[in-house]
Amino acid sequence: MPGGRPAALRRPVALLGTAIALLAAALSATPAHAAPPASAAGTARAASAAAPLAHGAAARSETYGAPARSRRAKVVYLTFDDGPGPYTSKVLKTLSRYGARATFFEIGQNVVRHPGLTRKVIAQGGSVQNHTWSHPDLTRVSASVFRSQVIRTDHAIHAAIGRTPKCLRPPYGAVDHSVYARARALHKKVVLWTVDPQDWARPGTSAIVHRVLTHVRPGSVVIMHDGGGNRSQTVAALPKILKTLKKRGYTFQLIACG
Ligand SMILES: [Zn+2]
Repeated sequence: MPGGRPAALRRPVALLGTAIALLAAALSATPAHAAPPASAAGTARAASAAAPLAHGAAARSETYGAPARSRRAKVVYLTFDDGPGPYTSKVLKTLSRYGARATFFEIGQNVVRHPGLTRKVIAQGGSVQNHTWSHPDLTRVSASVFRSQVIRTDHAIHAAIGRTPKCLRPPYGAVDHSVYARARALHKKVVLWTVDPQDWARPGTSAIVHRVLTHVRPGSVVIMHDGGGNRSQTVAALPKILKTLKKRGYTFQLIACG
């Protein structure tokens, strides 16, 4: 038949397609636990789960659904996790120097310790969202613990800034069916990321810069950290990242949490 490929040839092509799909599935199953520990108990787990990634950045598929428009426009969503803490002000200062805004996923018990820093994020045009109370792996907690981790943090953030977060970033990016369902029941939108320089592992300032700049695309959600440990490399990397992305024509927007 004209134009039709012989059946004998179609099959190997289909098999190749399946192999590629399987490979893609395997790659997208790259460890999700690439966020830093917020407690000593989390350290071993995070360290052991943080297998080296081929390109130094985890490309996650099931992530924040940036609007189609921003996938074409040169927009990048900067996010900072695990604060507030001693590095938050430095991050804010750099953001403001470059006219950039960012979304901060804060840990409830840190908000209670530093409510002034949470207010400062808002005062500088940032967004404060929920990263649980004490940074547990939400795939391993009961429904009631899940609920209290999220609600206590909501209350702490509301006490600090008078707003209740609508987005939730599960620690370590650990999600499963029940995490999504439980988040939905609390009216939270789960937000992951698409570019992860693994700054929490302190790979060096230039590695952080390189990993972010190599992987950012229009609509990327970049995860970095202003809390959970020594973040001086992240702070040092930020000006170079912002300067270069601005030069490339990017603008920095907040995650739309509603
Ligand atoms: Zn975290």
